[in-house]
Amino acid sequence: MPTFLPDATRAGVRGVSAADLKAIGIEGVVVNAFHLLRRPGARVVQAAGGVHRFMGWDSPVLSDSGGFQVWSLIRQDPARGVIRDNEVIFREPSTGEKWNLTPERVIGIQMQLGTDVLVCLDDCTAPEDPESEQERSVERTVRWAQRCRDEFDRRVARMPEAERPLLFAVVQGGRSEGLRRQCASALAAIGFDGYGFGGFPLAEDGTLLTDALGWVAGSLPAEAPKHALGLGRPDHVVSAFTLGYSIFDCALPTRDARQGRLYAFRPGWAARRPSPGDPFFSALRIHDPKHRIQHAPLEDGCDCPFCAAGLTRAYLHHLFKVGDMAAERYATLHNLRFYVRLFELLRG
Ligand SMILES: [Zn+2]
Repeated sequence: MPTFLPDATRAGVRGVSAADLKAIGIEGVVVNAFHLLRRPGARVVQAAGGVHRFMGWDSPVLSDSGGFQVWSLIRQDPARGVIRDNEVIFREPSTGEKWNLTPERVIGIQMQLGTDVLVCLDDCTAPEDPESEQERSVERTVRWAQRCRDEFDRRVARMPEAERPLLFAVVQGGRSEGLRRQCASALAAIGFDGYGFGGFPLAEDGTLLTDALGWVAGSLPAEAPKHALGLGRPDHVVSAFTLGYSIFDCALPTRDARQGRLYAFRPGWAARRPSPGDPFFSALRIHDPKHRIQHAPLEDGCDCPFCAAGLTRAYLHHLFKVGDMAAERYATLHNLRFYVRLFELLRG
Protein backbone atom coordinates (compact mmCIF):
# COMPACT_ATOMS: atom_id res chain seq x y z
CA MET A 1 0.00 0.00 0.00
CA PRO A 2 -0.70 2.39 -1.51
CA THR A 3 -1.68 0.48 -4.63
CA PHE A 4 -3.23 1.31 -7.98
CA LEU A 5 -5.71 -1.18 -9.44
CA PRO A 6 -6.48 -0.68 -13.13
CA ASP A 7 -10.07 -1.12 -14.21
CA ALA A 8 -10.58 -4.53 -15.77
CA THR A 9 -14.30 -3.70 -15.82
CA ARG A 10 -15.45 -6.64 -17.93
CA ALA A 11 -12.66 -8.98 -16.74
CA GLY A 12 -10.02 -7.48 -18.99
CA VAL A 13 -7.90 -4.36 -19.28
CA ARG A 14 -8.53 -3.43 -22.88
CA GLY A 15 -5.77 -4.32 -25.30
CA VAL A 16 -3.36 -5.88 -22.80
CA SER A 17 -2.99 -9.37 -21.35
CA ALA A 18 -2.71 -10.48 -17.73
CA ALA A 19 0.95 -11.33 -18.44
CA ASP A 20 1.50 -7.77 -19.76
CA LEU A 21 0.07 -6.35 -16.53
CA LYS A 22 2.24 -8.62 -14.39
CA ALA A 23 5.35 -7.64 -16.33
CA ILE A 24 4.93 -3.93 -15.62
CA GLY A 25 4.28 -4.43 -11.89
CA ILE A 26 0.47 -4.24 -11.59
CA GLU A 27 -0.56 -6.01 -8.37
CA GLY A 28 -4.34 -6.18 -8.64
CA VAL A 29 -7.31 -5.20 -10.78
CA VAL A 30 -10.91 -4.08 -10.33
CA VAL A 31 -13.78 -5.81 -12.10
CA ASN A 32 -17.37 -4.67 -12.12
CA ALA A 33 -19.92 -7.14 -10.76
CA PHE A 34 -22.85 -5.47 -12.51
CA HIS A 35 -21.19 -5.44 -15.95
CA LEU A 36 -20.13 -9.08 -15.57
CA LEU A 37 -23.66 -9.99 -14.52
CA ARG A 38 -24.95 -8.47 -17.75
CA ARG A 39 -22.25 -10.12 -19.86
CA PRO A 40 -21.19 -12.94 -19.80
CA GLY A 41 -23.24 -13.68 -16.64
CA ALA A 42 -21.95 -14.54 -13.18
CA ARG A 43 -22.65 -18.26 -13.77
CA VAL A 44 -20.39 -18.33 -16.81
CA VAL A 45 -17.52 -16.87 -14.75
CA GLN A 46 -18.27 -19.23 -11.86
CA ALA A 47 -18.27 -22.25 -14.19
CA ALA A 48 -14.81 -21.20 -15.42
CA GLY A 49 -13.60 -21.58 -11.84
CA GLY A 50 -13.97 -17.92 -10.87
CA VAL A 51 -12.78 -14.66 -12.31
CA HIS A 52 -9.08 -15.38 -11.70
CA ARG A 53 -9.12 -18.44 -13.93
CA PHE A 54 -11.54 -16.85 -16.39
CA MET A 55 -9.12 -13.98 -17.09
CA GLY A 56 -5.83 -15.76 -16.32
CA TRP A 57 -4.94 -13.47 -13.42
CA ASP A 58 -3.67 -14.98 -10.16
CA SER A 59 -3.22 -11.72 -8.22
CA PRO A 60 -5.90 -9.91 -6.19
CA VAL A 61 -9.20 -8.89 -7.80
CA LEU A 62 -11.55 -6.38 -6.21
CA SER A 63 -15.12 -6.43 -7.49
CA ASP A 64 -17.03 -3.20 -7.52
CA SER A 65 -20.70 -3.79 -6.76
CA GLY A 66 -21.86 -1.80 -9.76
CA GLY A 67 -23.97 0.54 -7.61
CA PHE A 68 -22.35 3.56 -9.24
CA GLN A 69 -22.85 2.29 -12.80
CA VAL A 70 -26.50 1.37 -12.25
CA TRP A 71 -27.13 4.75 -10.66
CA SER A 72 -25.46 6.70 -13.47
CA LEU A 73 -27.24 4.71 -16.21
CA ILE A 74 -30.63 5.25 -14.55
CA ARG A 75 -29.81 8.92 -13.94
CA GLN A 76 -29.05 9.42 -17.63
CA ASP A 77 -32.22 7.62 -18.66
CA PRO A 78 -34.93 7.01 -16.03
CA ALA A 79 -36.62 4.52 -18.38
CA ARG A 80 -33.73 2.17 -17.63
CA GLY A 81 -34.87 1.43 -14.12
CA VAL A 82 -35.66 2.54 -10.64
CA ILE A 83 -33.84 2.64 -7.28
CA ARG A 84 -36.14 1.74 -4.40
CA ASP A 85 -35.61 1.41 -0.65
CA ASN A 86 -35.11 -2.33 -0.88
CA GLU A 87 -33.83 -2.99 -4.37
CA VAL A 88 -32.56 -1.62 -7.64
CA ILE A 89 -34.31 -2.61 -10.86
CA PHE A 90 -32.43 -2.20 -14.12
CA ARG A 91 -33.80 -2.81 -17.59
CA GLU A 92 -31.60 -3.62 -20.56
CA PRO A 93 -33.00 -1.31 -23.23
CA SER A 94 -31.79 -3.40 -26.18
CA THR A 95 -33.06 -6.80 -25.01
CA GLY A 96 -35.78 -5.93 -22.50
CA GLU A 97 -33.99 -8.08 -19.88
CA LYS A 98 -34.57 -7.01 -16.30
CA TRP A 99 -32.07 -7.20 -13.44
CA ASN A 100 -33.17 -7.11 -9.88
CA LEU A 101 -30.36 -6.08 -7.54
CA THR A 102 -30.68 -6.40 -3.78
CA PRO A 103 -27.83 -6.14 -1.26
CA GLU A 104 -27.97 -9.94 -0.82
CA ARG A 105 -27.94 -10.60 -4.56
CA VAL A 106 -24.97 -8.28 -5.09
CA ILE A 107 -22.96 -10.25 -2.50
CA GLY A 108 -24.07 -13.51 -4.12
CA ILE A 109 -22.90 -12.34 -7.56
CA GLN A 110 -19.48 -11.33 -6.24
CA MET A 111 -19.17 -14.69 -4.45
CA GLN A 112 -19.92 -16.41 -7.76
CA LEU A 113 -17.19 -14.33 -9.40
CA GLY A 114 -14.83 -15.46 -6.64
CA THR A 115 -13.12 -12.11 -6.11
CA ASP A 116 -10.77 -11.30 -3.21
CA VAL A 117 -12.42 -8.06 -2.11
CA LEU A 118 -16.20 -7.61 -2.33
CA VAL A 119 -17.91 -4.22 -2.15
CA CYS A 120 -21.34 -3.57 -0.61
CA LEU A 121 -24.17 -2.17 -2.69
CA ASP A 122 -24.53 1.57 -2.03
CA ASP A 123 -26.98 4.27 -3.11
CA CYS A 124 -25.09 6.88 -5.09
CA THR A 125 -25.73 10.61 -5.42
CA ALA A 126 -24.09 13.52 -7.22
CA PRO A 127 -22.33 16.16 -5.08
CA GLU A 128 -24.84 18.80 -6.25
CA ASP A 129 -27.93 16.77 -5.29
CA PRO A 130 -30.08 18.36 -2.56
CA GLU A 131 -29.54 17.55 1.13
CA SER A 132 -32.79 15.54 1.34
CA GLU A 133 -31.52 13.17 -1.35
CA GLN A 134 -28.13 12.88 0.34
CA GLU A 135 -29.88 11.98 3.60
CA ARG A 136 -31.93 9.27 1.94
CA SER A 137 -28.82 7.92 0.21
CA VAL A 138 -26.91 7.68 3.51
CA GLU A 139 -29.83 5.97 5.21
CA ARG A 140 -30.14 3.40 2.39
CA THR A 141 -26.38 2.93 2.08
CA VAL A 142 -26.00 2.07 5.78
CA ARG A 143 -29.04 -0.23 5.76
CA TRP A 144 -27.87 -1.99 2.59
CA ALA A 145 -24.34 -2.33 4.02
CA GLN A 146 -25.75 -4.09 7.09
CA ARG A 147 -27.68 -6.48 4.84
CA CYS A 148 -24.53 -7.10 2.76
CA ARG A 149 -22.57 -7.75 5.97
CA ASP A 150 -25.18 -10.29 7.17
CA GLU A 151 -25.32 -12.07 3.81
CA PHE A 152 -21.53 -12.12 3.53
CA ASP A 153 -21.11 -13.52 7.07
CA ARG A 154 -23.71 -16.20 6.39
CA ARG A 155 -21.91 -17.27 3.20
CA VAL A 156 -18.35 -17.31 4.59
CA ALA A 157 -19.30 -18.97 7.89
CA ARG A 158 -18.15 -22.41 6.72
CA MET A 159 -15.16 -21.18 4.73
CA PRO A 160 -11.66 -21.72 6.17
CA GLU A 161 -10.32 -18.41 7.52
CA ALA A 162 -7.51 -18.23 4.93
CA GLU A 163 -9.93 -18.53 1.99
CA ARG A 164 -12.35 -15.83 3.11
CA PRO A 165 -12.49 -12.75 0.92
CA LEU A 166 -12.67 -9.23 2.38
CA LEU A 167 -15.73 -7.00 2.47
CA PHE A 168 -15.58 -3.23 1.89
CA ALA A 169 -18.40 -0.73 2.49
CA VAL A 170 -18.89 2.58 0.66
CA VAL A 171 -19.39 5.96 2.34
CA GLN A 172 -21.94 8.38 0.83
CA GLY A 173 -23.16 11.80 1.98
CA GLY A 174 -22.29 14.16 -0.87
CA ARG A 175 -20.72 17.41 0.22
CA SER A 176 -22.32 17.49 3.66
CA GLU A 177 -19.82 17.16 6.48
CA GLY A 178 -22.49 15.93 8.89
CA LEU A 179 -23.77 13.25 6.52
CA ARG A 180 -20.31 12.07 5.43
CA ARG A 181 -19.20 11.68 9.06
CA GLN A 182 -22.50 10.08 10.07
CA CYS A 183 -22.29 7.55 7.23
CA ALA A 184 -18.62 6.73 7.91
CA SER A 185 -19.25 6.25 11.66
CA ALA A 186 -22.34 4.10 11.11
CA LEU A 187 -20.45 1.84 8.69
CA ALA A 188 -17.44 1.67 11.02
CA ALA A 189 -19.80 0.61 13.83
CA ILE A 190 -21.02 -2.33 11.70
CA GLY A 191 -17.39 -3.13 10.92
CA PHE A 192 -15.79 -3.82 7.53
CA ASP A 193 -12.34 -4.83 6.27
CA GLY A 194 -12.04 -1.56 4.34
CA TYR A 195 -14.03 1.48 3.26
CA GLY A 196 -14.55 3.27 -0.02
CA PHE A 197 -15.18 6.95 -0.66
CA GLY A 198 -18.36 6.82 -2.72
CA GLY A 199 -20.17 9.24 -4.97
CA PHE A 200 -18.43 11.47 -7.44
CA PRO A 201 -15.11 12.68 -5.92
CA LEU A 202 -14.98 15.83 -8.07
CA ALA A 203 -16.97 19.06 -8.08
CA GLU A 204 -18.68 20.22 -11.29
CA ASP A 205 -15.59 22.26 -12.20
CA GLY A 206 -13.35 19.21 -11.84
CA THR A 207 -11.72 20.15 -8.54
CA LEU A 208 -11.12 17.39 -6.04
CA LEU A 209 -13.48 17.32 -3.03
CA THR A 210 -10.59 17.31 -0.55
CA ASP A 211 -12.83 18.45 2.34
CA ALA A 212 -15.22 15.53 1.91
CA LEU A 213 -12.34 13.06 1.44
CA GLY A 214 -10.83 14.35 4.68
CA TRP A 215 -14.08 14.13 6.71
CA VAL A 216 -14.57 10.53 5.64
CA ALA A 217 -10.97 9.44 6.29
CA GLY A 218 -11.08 11.18 9.67
CA SER A 219 -14.28 9.40 10.72
CA LEU A 220 -13.04 5.91 9.86
CA PRO A 221 -10.69 3.68 11.86
CA ALA A 222 -7.13 4.92 11.23
CA GLU A 223 -5.78 1.46 10.37
CA ALA A 224 -8.60 0.46 7.96
CA PRO A 225 -7.71 0.47 4.24
CA LYS A 226 -9.43 3.36 2.48
CA HIS A 227 -10.30 3.16 -1.19
CA ALA A 228 -10.85 6.30 -3.25
CA LEU A 229 -13.25 4.78 -5.78
CA GLY A 230 -12.72 5.93 -9.35
CA LEU A 231 -10.23 8.59 -8.37
CA GLY A 232 -7.12 8.54 -10.52
CA ARG A 233 -5.72 11.80 -11.87
CA PRO A 234 -2.06 11.69 -10.74
CA ASP A 235 -2.27 14.96 -8.77
CA HIS A 236 -5.59 13.87 -7.21
CA VAL A 237 -4.02 10.56 -6.19
CA VAL A 238 -1.21 12.41 -4.40
CA SER A 239 -3.73 14.61 -2.54
CA ALA A 240 -5.98 11.73 -1.53
CA PHE A 241 -2.99 9.63 -0.46
CA THR A 242 -1.91 12.44 1.86
CA LEU A 243 -5.44 12.39 3.34
CA GLY A 244 -5.14 8.68 4.21
CA TYR A 245 -6.37 6.80 1.11
CA SER A 246 -4.27 3.86 -0.03
CA ILE A 247 -6.29 2.01 -2.70
CA PHE A 248 -7.07 3.64 -6.03
CA ASP A 249 -8.77 2.49 -9.20
CA CYS A 250 -9.54 4.55 -12.25
CA ALA A 251 -10.24 4.14 -15.94
CA LEU A 252 -8.28 7.32 -16.66
CA PRO A 253 -4.77 6.00 -17.50
CA THR A 254 -6.06 3.27 -19.80
CA ARG A 255 -8.75 5.42 -21.45
CA ASP A 256 -6.30 8.28 -21.94
CA ALA A 257 -3.76 5.86 -23.42
CA ARG A 258 -6.22 4.64 -26.04
CA GLN A 259 -6.83 8.27 -26.98
CA GLY A 260 -3.10 8.93 -27.27
CA ARG A 261 -2.72 10.93 -24.05
CA LEU A 262 0.46 9.80 -22.34
CA TYR A 263 1.77 10.59 -18.89
CA ALA A 264 5.36 11.38 -18.00
CA PHE A 265 7.28 12.61 -14.98
CA ARG A 266 8.64 16.08 -15.56
CA PRO A 267 12.44 16.24 -15.67
CA GLY A 268 13.83 15.89 -12.15
CA TRP A 269 10.63 14.40 -10.68
CA ALA A 270 11.01 10.69 -11.49
CA ALA A 271 12.75 9.85 -8.21
CA ARG A 272 11.09 12.25 -5.75
CA ARG A 273 8.05 11.56 -3.64
CA PRO A 274 5.52 14.17 -4.81
CA SER A 275 3.48 16.30 -2.41
CA PRO A 276 0.11 17.93 -3.15
CA GLY A 277 0.57 20.87 -5.51
CA ASP A 278 3.88 19.64 -6.95
CA PRO A 279 4.10 19.93 -10.77
CA PHE A 280 5.52 16.42 -11.05
CA PHE A 281 3.90 15.17 -14.24
CA SER A 282 2.87 16.22 -17.70
CA ALA A 283 0.75 14.63 -20.41
CA LEU A 284 1.62 14.61 -24.08
CA ARG A 285 -0.77 14.10 -26.98
CA ILE A 286 0.86 11.67 -29.35
CA HIS A 287 -1.48 12.68 -32.20
CA ASP A 288 0.08 16.15 -32.15
CA PRO A 289 1.82 16.64 -35.56
CA LYS A 290 5.05 17.69 -33.86
CA HIS A 291 5.61 14.11 -32.68
CA ARG A 292 5.81 12.85 -36.30
CA ILE A 293 9.53 13.53 -36.33
CA GLN A 294 10.39 13.32 -32.62
CA HIS A 295 12.78 10.42 -32.25
CA ALA A 296 12.71 10.49 -28.44
CA PRO A 297 11.17 8.14 -25.87
CA LEU A 298 7.71 8.97 -24.46
CA GLU A 299 9.59 9.85 -21.29
CA ASP A 300 13.34 9.90 -20.76
CA GLY A 301 14.16 7.12 -18.32
CA CYS A 302 10.79 5.32 -18.60
CA ASP A 303 11.22 1.54 -18.35
CA CYS A 304 7.88 0.49 -19.90
CA PRO A 305 8.13 -2.15 -22.67
CA PHE A 306 7.85 0.55 -25.36
CA CYS A 307 10.37 3.08 -24.06
CA ALA A 308 12.76 0.38 -22.79
CA ALA A 309 12.92 -1.10 -26.28
CA GLY A 310 14.24 2.23 -27.58
CA LEU A 311 11.01 2.99 -29.48
CA THR A 312 10.11 6.63 -30.00
CA ARG A 313 7.29 9.17 -30.10
CA ALA A 314 7.60 9.27 -33.88
CA TYR A 315 6.94 5.51 -34.05
CA LEU A 316 3.93 5.59 -31.70
CA HIS A 317 2.53 8.62 -33.58
CA HIS A 318 2.88 6.57 -36.76
CA LEU A 319 1.24 3.44 -35.28
CA PHE A 320 -1.77 5.49 -34.15
CA LYS A 321 -1.94 7.21 -37.52
CA VAL A 322 -2.08 3.94 -39.47
CA GLY A 323 -4.52 2.40 -36.98
CA ASP A 324 -2.17 -0.37 -35.82
CA MET A 325 -3.68 -2.16 -32.81
CA ALA A 326 -0.26 -2.24 -31.14
CA ALA A 327 -0.49 1.53 -30.65
CA GLU A 328 -3.17 1.28 -27.94
CA ARG A 329 -1.37 -1.61 -26.26
CA TYR A 330 1.95 0.24 -26.08
CA ALA A 331 0.27 3.43 -24.86
CA THR A 332 -1.69 1.53 -22.18
CA LEU A 333 1.45 -0.19 -20.90
CA HIS A 334 3.35 3.11 -20.80
CA ASN A 335 0.61 4.88 -18.81
CA LEU A 336 0.11 2.00 -16.38
CA ARG A 337 3.87 1.77 -15.85
CA PHE A 338 3.82 5.51 -15.04
CA TYR A 339 1.22 4.76 -12.32
CA VAL A 340 3.24 1.86 -10.92
CA ARG A 341 6.29 4.17 -10.72
CA LEU A 342 4.22 6.94 -9.09
CA PHE A 343 2.95 4.51 -6.44
CA GLU A 344 6.48 3.26 -5.78
CA LEU A 345 7.46 6.88 -5.06
CA LEU A 346 4.47 7.34 -2.73
CA ARG A 347 5.46 4.23 -0.80
CA GLY A 348 8.81 5.89 -0.22
ZN1 LIG B 1 7.26 4.38 -21.44
